[in-house]
Amino acid sequence: MKITIVGSGYVGLVTGACFSEVGIDVVCVDIDQSKIDNLNNGIIPIYEPGLEEMIVRNMKKERLKFTTNIAAAVKESEIIFISVGTPPDEDGSADLKYVLAVARDCGKHMNKYTLVITKSTVPVGTSLRVKKAIQEELDKRKVNIDFDVASNPEFLKEGAAIDDFLKPDRIVVGIESEYAEELLTQLYKPFVLNGHPIIFMDIVSAEMTKYAANSMLATKISFINDIANLCELVGADINQVRKGIGSDGRIGNKFIYPGIGYGGSCFPKDVQALIKTAGEYNYDLQVLKAVEAVNKAQKSILFNKILNYYNGDVKGKTVTLWGLSFKPHTDDMREAPSLEIVSKLLKAGARVKAYDPVAIPEAKHHFGDTISYYNDQYEALIDSDCLAIITEWPEFRIPNFNVIKKLLKTPAVFDGRNIYDKDEMRQNEFDYFCIGVDTVR
Ligand code: NAD
Repeated sequence: MKITIVGSGYVGLVTGACFSEVGIDVVCVDIDQSKIDNLNNGIIPIYEPGLEEMIVRNMKKERLKFTTNIAAAVKESEIIFISVGTPPDEDGSADLKYVLAVARDCGKHMNKYTLVITKSTVPVGTSLRVKKAIQEELDKRKVNIDFDVASNPEFLKEGAAIDDFLKPDRIVVGIESEYAEELLTQLYKPFVLNGHPIIFMDIVSAEMTKYAANSMLATKISFINDIANLCELVGADINQVRKGIGSDGRIGNKFIYPGIGYGGSCFPKDVQALIKTAGEYNYDLQVLKAVEAVNKAQKSILFNKILNYYNGDVKGKTVTLWGLSFKPHTDDMREAPSLEIVSKLLKAGARVKAYDPVAIPEAKHHFGDTISYYNDQYEALIDSDCLAIITEWPEFRIPNFNVIKKLLKTPAVFDGRNIYDKDEMRQNEFDYFCIGVDTVR
């Protein structure tokens, strides 16, 4: 079996690597020549645990190849995945120009039956537009070639993407032909041997499933953050409340951790895009609008706590941030809460020092030399006024509190991820602020 994956970003690379890992011949295509040159030299453009080893191993076996030549790749494969980006347009809707450009490329170059599968997150109805774009190119060429389109949204989580792909909770596939179902059943066979289901459905429902899933997860986060903020006002402790509600099987204990808002390349844009889709059908998605508003406010919460601590004036203060990526185990900084916090601190006249285990090269694209970067979490504390936890990397969980206290000018810790215990912080004589819990001073 030979497949082509168009778009070699987080999703395309993980998809390509994992399919090649089970013995399928994979060609990964991208328009970015330098990215492809690097990949061909074994340089992986993103940090994702386990990905580099898997790519290098399968390149050596010659099952995984990288190219910018989409024409050759389309001709060689019966199955093509589209996994290019779908960034938000100015009005919040998903920008489909990359997806439709790939669809047209497929129509320009296919020379036999081809199954074109959209893996990018695309609004309801996009697969039909993909089909139309392919057909238009075939019509221009005046050729009659049979093809199918399918929708196969991706549910991997950055930071655990390889595991998620190899052992998925479920695989959702939207199809409109029996042959497409057969091909996809065959292709995903190695991943469902342990009983993980492939759920076949119509294409529109598959497209909707992805948005509904991400919107549900974003809703859980904004809900718990809203409740956390109220906990602070009434004197309750969200960490206890979370345990109390999570033990109810109908609610579940996953994804109800309070923090400084969701970020990343998916939740913010997918929530926005679904609101936009609803608007196109004159439907007002009130819950999701509130989810978005709560999240926006939540991204300022840690900055506000720092500002209050210094009586409204952080000019001349130095704040050390531990963590910059939008979540642990990734270098992805798209829509990360750190972007908002750094920008607010700098605007208010504070200096920012930062440490992150992997995201510093990525952070430099965003902040340039406006902040200082450190390769050691403790070195970043020297002469700082306070510490703020932005990302819950495991290495921050049990730090040496004595060293922190010695290095900081004042023992103040602002914990945006609730990773420390308030009683322990009290014992260690810190001024400690977290989300949804009484302040320790
Ligand atoms: P990305 O930005 O990391 O990668 C996209 C790649 O596509 C880039 O390398 C870009 O150069 C390439 N590209 C753009 N136009 C092209 C073209 N015409 N031909 C060939 N290559 C082209 O994006 P990503 O994070 O991998 O996301 C891809 C899609 O998957 C998005 O729709 C996203 O919403 C969805 N998704 C992402 C995740 C995630 O965690 N990142 C999870 C599930 C779904």
